[in-house]
Amino acid sequence: MEQAKRQQAVFVAKLKEFLAIDSVEDMSTAGEGKPFGQGVAEALEYMLALGEQDGFRTRNLEGYAGYIEFGQGEEVAVLVHVDVVPAGEGWTTPPFSPDIRDGKIFARGAIDDKGPALAAYFAFRMVRDSGLPLSKRVRFIIGTDEESGWLCMKRYAELEPIPEIGFSPDASFPIIHAEKGQINPLLRLDERAAGAKCDPAPARWLLRSFQAGERGNMVPDRAEAAIVLAAEAGDDSLVEGLVSDYQEFLARQGVSGRAERQDGRGLVLRLDGQAAHGMEPCEGRNAGLLLARFLAGQPFGGDDRRFLELLSAVLYEDYFGAKLGIACEDEATGKLTVNAGILTYKQDEGASVHLNIRYPATVNADECVQRLRQAVASLGWKIDRLRTSSGHYVPKDHPCVLTLQKVYEEQTGLPATLLSTGGATYAKTLKAGVAFGPVFPGKEATAHMKDEYAEINDLIAAMAIYAQAIYELAK
Ligand SMILES: [Zn+2]
Repeated sequence: MEQAKRQQAVFVAKLKEFLAIDSVEDMSTAGEGKPFGQGVAEALEYMLALGEQDGFRTRNLEGYAGYIEFGQGEEVAVLVHVDVVPAGEGWTTPPFSPDIRDGKIFARGAIDDKGPALAAYFAFRMVRDSGLPLSKRVRFIIGTDEESGWLCMKRYAELEPIPEIGFSPDASFPIIHAEKGQINPLLRLDERAAGAKCDPAPARWLLRSFQAGERGNMVPDRAEAAIVLAAEAGDDSLVEGLVSDYQEFLARQGVSGRAERQDGRGLVLRLDGQAAHGMEPCEGRNAGLLLARFLAGQPFGGDDRRFLELLSAVLYEDYFGAKLGIACEDEATGKLTVNAGILTYKQDEGASVHLNIRYPATVNADECVQRLRQAVASLGWKIDRLRTSSGHYVPKDHPCVLTLQKVYEEQTGLPATLLSTGGATYAKTLKAGVAFGPVFPGKEATAHMKDEYAEINDLIAAMAIYAQAIYELAK
């Protein structure tokens, strides 16, 4: 008991030192051996120095990553990262002066991922110090670029073999074993299809510009369109009529926005929706699609109309890709989702639509892209650029999953339900890696927020889980 308390005090003291290093990526201080800047390099060195003092084999891989290891044979990996996201504003106490209040340690990186990293390192050392016989080699891998471009693990893979099995304490308990893949197409109007269909009625309105969203993986919370009444279309009363129709539309939809008269017969329409993460588009209200919904009810012609129709008749509330012909789901990761993240129309540059599609882990991405291509082609659009990233799936009966389930249940008495995510966890960079903790079920997740914290008792509980997990995987 005394010894456990002393251990805990040592852990907290080290954690305070470690969290005091400002390890936000800073390219202005980058250089040889420190590709992500001074602070990140110091945090990596801090961990490697601990490993060295404790008598482990350690290696710094050009500042991109590092490892600490012991044992012989097949590898079991624990994967952590020491970089953190920028602190932002509004902290109660300075983000790089760790402060303990109510059993919680407040600092940037407390829960993502320096707190869990140190807890996992202590667990790793406990296993070695226990002297229990192991049949495998345990490698503690330290990444430095998880929050930006994952270049750390890319370089790692060039220098070292990627481990077969292991876990990453960089998400939530119990176990995340499956992650969706992503397809990010940029759609443009297909010139060859332009003018192919004749317009049903002469255009009354012209679309000057349309803009919604800045990032593919966010639901746009603001949209703006500039339109003008065509010269021969009619008189001023049509402009006034549209303004009042728009106000009615906003009220019916329960959103805010406004219409502003411009010089002559022009109008600028604005609309406020609700932002959400792109992996859960139905949690937000897409301002761009909603504004297009209104505009598509007006007589526009040509490319203006084709742009508004794609948004209004196909993408609007098509959260699961049914109208795009790509709806699918699997047991592990659920339904495919579609987010229309950036919607742009400019008279000189034309129309573009950035989608962020998250497809089930066990679905074939090429087939999905093929179906998407057909669907957009039939509407006069084409896929102009495409970026994809694969999903990640470790089968339920994989020995790594079964072992961690057993450990979690023994340690906590709670069911070790398997989880999946629409996002990507660091565990994806291992072959059969899973995300394992450290946020316990029902606990507040404060990663990336102001006043980020970790409960010290939770880190200690996670440490015990990690120690048993490492032992069971490597015995
Ligand atoms: Zn993280």
